[in-house]
Amino acid sequence: MSPQRVALSGWGRWPQVQAELTEARGVDSIRELLREGAISVRGAGRSYGDSSLGQRMLDMTHTRRMRSFDAQTGIAVVDAGVTIEDLLRLFAPRGWLPAVTPGTRFVTVGGALASDVHGKNHHGAGSFSDHVPWFELMLADGEVVRVSREERPELFHATAGGMGLTGVILAVALELMPARSSDILQRSLKLEDIDATVAAIEANASWTYSAAWIDCQARGRRLGRSLLLLGEHASEGSQATAVNARAPVAIPLTPPAGTLAKPVVSAFNAIYHGRQRGPERTSRIPYTSFFHPLDAIANWNVLYGRRGFLQYQFVTPTEAGADPLRRALELISGAPVAAPLAVLKAFGEANVNLLSFPLRGYTLAVDLPASPAAFELCERLDRLVLGCGGRIYLSKDARMKPETFRACYPRWSEFEEIRARHGAAGRLTTLQSRRLGLA
Ligand SMILES: Cc1cc2nc3c(=O)[nH]c(=O)nc-3n(C[C@H](O)[C@H](O)[C@H](O)COP(=O)(O)OP(=O)(O)OC[C@H]3O[C@@H](n4cnc5c(N)ncnc54)[C@H](O)[C@@H]3O)c2cc1C
Repeated sequence: MSPQRVALSGWGRWPQVQAELTEARGVDSIRELLREGAISVRGAGRSYGDSSLGQRMLDMTHTRRMRSFDAQTGIAVVDAGVTIEDLLRLFAPRGWLPAVTPGTRFVTVGGALASDVHGKNHHGAGSFSDHVPWFELMLADGEVVRVSREERPELFHATAGGMGLTGVILAVALELMPARSSDILQRSLKLEDIDATVAAIEANASWTYSAAWIDCQARGRRLGRSLLLLGEHASEGSQATAVNARAPVAIPLTPPAGTLAKPVVSAFNAIYHGRQRGPERTSRIPYTSFFHPLDAIANWNVLYGRRGFLQYQFVTPTEAGADPLRRALELISGAPVAAPLAVLKAFGEANVNLLSFPLRGYTLAVDLPASPAAFELCERLDRLVLGCGGRIYLSKDARMKPETFRACYPRWSEFEEIRARHGAAGRLTTLQSRRLGLA
């Protein structure tokens, strides 16, 4: 397949590159591309920043075979370009669901493994890779190897969360989770400030799913007010209807910059928070409404205008308590920048992957329209996060400095050694890896 010259970005629409994009059409085409020079691997492009971008890009979205399924173990083996949406459509009606899903179903399993994504159940279920017994990887020299914790542990722990920099993930074995219904019983708690939010997250840690929508514009005694959404699988019913997700609607135009100006966002947030009148509300809702509410609009990312946006996601360790969160919210709400969407959740234990993001603590993800003020705010947040032993998520990042990366991910040098040993240095690169000073 000959390459196409295209303009591409991550989900945040910043930065943008002109790239040569080649569709993966079988292992030989991937091997051929690798032989000709350095490549960047691209899944569905749902990472926010520059982690899937480069000059010569390999598009994995056309590798979509469901290879096998074992109904005894619940293990499905699928091509790397299969999406969470594909898995839901095929397996949910048969009573199986992904054990971990991020906030959008439009990601590939290859991309989910490379970012080692987390869901609303990280505190109980861990990350995506914790449900992957093995995967198939093409190394930089074209050799295809099977990678598991037992067979090639160093490649396993460097590739899961390794942002596509060790090789091309070709297929993934996934442990699915049995479920009697795809509906979720949701309990929504209205909380008036950050202390109440953190206390409620802790008090409700036994819920399988938990994440709080935070009003990042609120200040003073309302700082960190939220709606904490807790969820459990319904025990029966609607299994057959499965994940009857409606096709997303699309926004026809890119709205002008300023559509999401700070006063507009503040007013919207006040209405959203105020819409729930009582302190608690329970409901039974479809799977996608609980896990993937943003997917209802296909291209909501255009709402930020032509300049695009950044998502800043950090985690701070539990021992640091709620104080770093309070200080981060003060910085965000006091900055001359609108933060329309913010989610807070608690992570459970970290796994042993070299670059996986989660560690036991609190993680906050905030969208910020790309502007000089947003970049300045991120620098200040970097200092706060590093100061308390936290880290910043690579899959959302478009701007971190090399020294910040090295402080967040102290095992980066081990990661580089493994890449060098397997010939990946200089062969699998991205805009992000070069910005972060990786080989
Ligand atoms: C609305 C929304 C909500 C989200 N919610 C969450 C969330 O709750 N939790 C979370 O963790 N993340 C979340 N994300 C981020 C998203 O889950 C990750 O960025 C994911 O990696 C995207 O997968 P992708 O297929 O789009 O990969 P891409 O964005 O195309 O690539 C991501 C990385 O994976 C690498 N990669 C992709 N495919 C392969 C492959 N086959 N082999 C080797 N490397 C590969 C790329 O090189 C890149 O480094 C969200 C994103 C959006 C847009």
